[in-house]
Amino acid sequence: MAHVHAPIAIVGAGPVGLSMALGLAVHGVRSVLVERHHRTSERSKAPAIQQRTREVFRQWGVEDRFLEAGVLRRTLTLNAAAAGRRPLASIDMSELDREADRPGLLVLEQSETERLLLEAVRETGLCDLRFDTEAVRLRQDRDGATLSCRRNGPEYSLDAAFVVGCDGADSFVRDALGLPFEGFTYAIRPMLADVRITDERDQLPWPRIHNSRGGVTAALRLSDGLWRIIRLERGDPEKDDSVPDDEIEARVAETLGGGGCRIEWANRFRIHLRSAPRFRVDRVLLAGDAAHVHSPAGALGMNAGIQDAHNLAWKLAAVLDGGDAGRLLDAYDIERRDVVVESVSGYADVLTKVFLQAPAVVRAAAFVLLRLCLAIPPVRRRMLRRATMIDLGYQDSPLLDSRERAAGVRLPNPLLRSHEATHVRLYDLLPNGPAILDVAEHRDAGTALPLERVIRIGRGGYHDGSGLLRKLLGGRDGWIVVRPDRHVALARNTADGLGASVHRALGTQA
Ligand SMILES: Cc1cc2nc3c(=O)[nH]c(=O)nc-3n(C[C@H](O)[C@H](O)[C@H](O)COP(=O)(O)OP(=O)(O)OC[C@H]3O[C@@H](n4cnc5c(N)ncnc54)[C@H](O)[C@@H]3O)c2cc1C
Repeated sequence: MAHVHAPIAIVGAGPVGLSMALGLAVHGVRSVLVERHHRTSERSKAPAIQQRTREVFRQWGVEDRFLEAGVLRRTLTLNAAAAGRRPLASIDMSELDREADRPGLLVLEQSETERLLLEAVRETGLCDLRFDTEAVRLRQDRDGATLSCRRNGPEYSLDAAFVVGCDGADSFVRDALGLPFEGFTYAIRPMLADVRITDERDQLPWPRIHNSRGGVTAALRLSDGLWRIIRLERGDPEKDDSVPDDEIEARVAETLGGGGCRIEWANRFRIHLRSAPRFRVDRVLLAGDAAHVHSPAGALGMNAGIQDAHNLAWKLAAVLDGGDAGRLLDAYDIERRDVVVESVSGYADVLTKVFLQAPAVVRAAAFVLLRLCLAIPPVRRRMLRRATMIDLGYQDSPLLDSRERAAGVRLPNPLLRSHEATHVRLYDLLPNGPAILDVAEHRDAGTALPLERVIRIGRGGYHDGSGLLRKLLGGRDGWIVVRPDRHVALARNTADGLGASVHRALGTQA
């Protein structure tokens, strides 16, 4: 087969590779995606889509189809499985309404997430999708990278300006770069099973948790009649993968009550906390599980990977458009490693140690502490922002100047009121490229600004009743420069030197 040429080659059509292709297409960039299997995964795997990921999906124009396919939980009550017990904790996410649109946890099987992403990628017409194609060799030089691919016969070469390895925890691309996967494996051996429940137990409130001396069992309802049973106990990480049916039935009985079930699949897993020391080596980048894996506690892993793709897509588009490749791609590496390794992994690790690894009595005490924390409004809000991933920011990005106000924080998404008294969320006004929010209660418009898209907030523009935008400016008028990924590049009270700062923050040439 002849050489194939593409600006970007993506390895792996899991949720992250598909997000990468979609994110690039949204910025008008073509890609080739190779996947060694003949289709996307049919496994339910990660069943939770966090608020920040939904914001990404909205920008990509696909949020509605996800909302239609899944179940949005605005309140999450952790129910004790034992009859008559009060809930272990209850979390009402509507508290974040001021800064996010319909905050909640979207429950959807990963197989559905992949199906919807694949459908959206196909619709763009900008991705050459190649299933049944395995990447087997990778090399790169100053001008580009070449993947050798195999599809039912001889190898062929795929030349690209950049390659993104989204090929999962056993990443071929990471190995080809010679990068280790540093970290450790927890001394727990979780059992996961998906079971069909066809009687009235399917209507039980969920998630349901059974905490006992031997370990903890949780039951989540994935879709009509389909439940995920998770059993966590300390144990030998080398123990056999198979799970006897009577063990699954016992776990179903302790969370949902007796009455039988049909087992769809079950397995025992290892849980790791690992990451590559770099997410970029010259023209090759890593995203998703290829770059980092976490404990499933907190349901962040797949979400963090999709957010990698969101962060990288605009930067690759900017590089192909003549931007500063070194600064933009180093920024991807540093921004995402900071967020993933410091924040996401650290948070998942704490949850794992407290709720999954500790003895039953510590776990019970942790649930009491959780209830107490949730009763204190500022603490509750911090916890909610962390759990939904809307508090993650890029304060140490090499693209940004940390002395600038609000540099790197996620832009809040308040509900704005227009002149005609209609309401619109801020994100729905933003383009896929960068923008400036001209926040002015006390001055008129008219300052020349270095970006095309300017949204006026205040006199003569939209009204922000939440006050969150002025808060970013220290309560005064000013300008907020927004990156394509809806993080703040800078927030200034004066327009002096704004042009140069904008170019620096976006990695573009002045
Ligand atoms: C049973 C199970 C339960 C899980 N539960 C949760 C959960 O509750 N919450 C959570 O957040 N996460 C969970 N995860 C993790 C979550 O599924 C992953 O974080 C997510 O799938 C990562 O997506 P990815 O696209 O990075 O990698 P993957 O989904 O692994 O996709 C990688 C793709 O690359 C392809 N590929 C690999 N090598 C090559 C090659 N050389 N050439 C071509 N193609 C290649 C693979 O075939 C695969 O399709 C779970 C995982 C499992 C297995």
